[in-house]
Amino acid sequence: MAKKIIEEVAEIAGQLEEQLKFYRDIGISDLGGSARVTAEAASGAGFALPPSQALGLSSLSPRASQEESVITTSNHAAATTEKPGPKAGLFDDIPAGGEAGNKRSRSYALPVLEARDASLEAIREDIGDCTRCKLHEQRKNIVFGEGNPRAKLVFIGEGPGAEEDATGRPFVGRAGQLLDKIIVAIGLKREDVYIANVVKCRPPGNRTPERDEVETCEQFVFRQIALINPRVIVALGSPAFQCLMRTRESISRARGEFRDLNGVKVMPTFHPAFLLRSPDKKREVWDDMKKVRDYLNEPADPVAQT
Ligand code: URA
Repeated sequence: MAKKIIEEVAEIAGQLEEQLKFYRDIGISDLGGSARVTAEAASGAGFALPPSQALGLSSLSPRASQEESVITTSNHAAATTEKPGPKAGLFDDIPAGGEAGNKRSRSYALPVLEARDASLEAIREDIGDCTRCKLHEQRKNIVFGEGNPRAKLVFIGEGPGAEEDATGRPFVGRAGQLLDKIIVAIGLKREDVYIANVVKCRPPGNRTPERDEVETCEQFVFRQIALINPRVIVALGSPAFQCLMRTRESISRARGEFRDLNGVKVMPTFHPAFLLRSPDKKREVWDDMKKVRDYLNEPADPVAQT
């Protein structure tokens, strides 16, 4: 009996230590309501891509009105937030309460992730010096994505910000630095994972990518995913989640529960840029990331991974 209690206390202490380490890693030193966190930590113990023109998408609102009331800086990292509520998103004409099973469900079928490209380089070559949508007009660099081509974990954001546009690399601004810490907190390195965006060119002023831009560009992210064949995709923020899952649900409602994208688990969670503005939400992201970590630590289903 005493041994069991000691083991349980040790387990809880381990979890607390882990949680505190995560907070430290992502830059929280003042925990404020730590008693609540502690209690919760203890009790919590533990492509054949259908073209999106078939989706019947409606118009998109600018990021400022969708995701937050104020866009304050040119730093993409600080310009995105997630707010609960009835706001619609990329797929706001999809009836609420389930994309499958409603009378229009065929149009909203999730993409079949069937690898049809020889390599990521081939996909990049196909993008070329892209002028397929208006985002090309102001971009400096196409931000294709980077990381381990055999990653088991893929992070998808909405679109490059200023620093990404300047460097041609995804998530290198402030939000990217926070993403790096989140990756480390689950025991991985940035080189272990793959990081990409729904649209490959920076939307001017860091606005939310518009419907036509997503429709034009999303084939590439789905082809990247199909080729990499990860076990888990972390969808960072509403636009990425809504594009990947053909849904209008907001990230605030959806986060924390795995979805299924034709055999690949999708974990919706808050965008790191939102965390920069709302650090109190880091605890939710940590909860989500622990689920991802734990799932990745489970043995893979050999059938799903063939
Ligand atoms: N935000 C994104 O969604 N993507 C990036 O690459 C950078 C910031």
